[in-house]
Amino acid sequence: MVLTLGNYATPSVLTGRRRARARARKRNAEEAMARGQQKIQSQQKNAKRAAEKKKQQGADQKTAAKAALVYTCPVCRTQMPDPKTFKQHFESKHPKSPLPPELADVQA
Ligand SMILES: [Zn+2]
Repeated sequence: MVLTLGNYATPSVLTGRRRARARARKRNAEEAMARGQQKIQSQQKNAKRAAEKKKQQGADQKTAAKAALVYTCPVCRTQMPDPKTFKQHFESKHPKSPLPPELADVQA
């Protein structure tokens, strides 16, 4: 098979073009690699951030859950987040039971 290069493409020009193309390809490859690297780095950063956020949220939720249920009804052992809820619960569920002293001055 014979390759026809065309009249305009003298060997030296062709070599120059090839070199230019090769340089361009290399540059593109390097840029793509740099972009890829940046993408990976940003993905890693995002993943790390998400993990930290998740961790923090988990801790917050645990703390909040713990802190939320601080009042335990002495009659039925139901846990409630605040004295107001506790008093409402007590008054509606156990109207015949004496109100716990800590609820006496709670405004329900
Ligand atoms: Zn109760």
